[in-house]
Amino acid sequence: MLGPKVASTHIRPIVSHHPTIAKAPMTVHLRPHHLLCMLTFVGKGYTVAFTENYIRIATRLSEGEDILVVEGPDDVCAPMLGEADNHCLCDSVTDRDKKATEAVEALLGMSAGPGAQIVPDADFLRRMREAFGDGTIRDACQRCEWSPLCTGIAASGFDGVLVVPLGVSQGMVQAGSERQ
Ligand code: SF4
Repeated sequence: MLGPKVASTHIRPIVSHHPTIAKAPMTVHLRPHHLLCMLTFVGKGYTVAFTENYIRIATRLSEGEDILVVEGPDDVCAPMLGEADNHCLCDSVTDRDKKATEAVEALLGMSAGPGAQIVPDADFLRRMREAFGDGTIRDACQRCEWSPLCTGIAASGFDGVLVVPLGVSQGMVQAGSERQ
């Protein structure tokens, strides 16, 4: 298993400004291929529970909450684990995670496998969306039923996506100007 190897540009120290109480860090747990899926999430999903949970996660990510990459089912998968036909533990999804890890690591030069910590800031999302849009990091999307939707969202300039960093308007995402 890979240990944390975090690119310096995405390290953010956890600091509490309270004089006596250390604030518990909040972290979104994502499996590797969900680093791609979050780029095109527009509020659609398998079930109402899945979608509502994902919207809450998208809000947390937009607020800059850190990501801890995990192996297997994650915070996005959680509402599906009780569904009879969930695929969260299938070998094909594990292979999707492996491909996503390799692609993101090649793109960003940092660990993106289990144990990696990532700050979903404007620069991270911009680089990921640019690479998603040109297909560089989409090997993991092969045979995914959502692929046509995700391709269309990328082609639209990521119109309507819900993971948008604070201070970046939807129009700026569409224009590819998340740079700050
Ligand atoms: S095509 Fe599938 S794996 Fe790829 S980003 Fe979309 S939902 Fe995720």
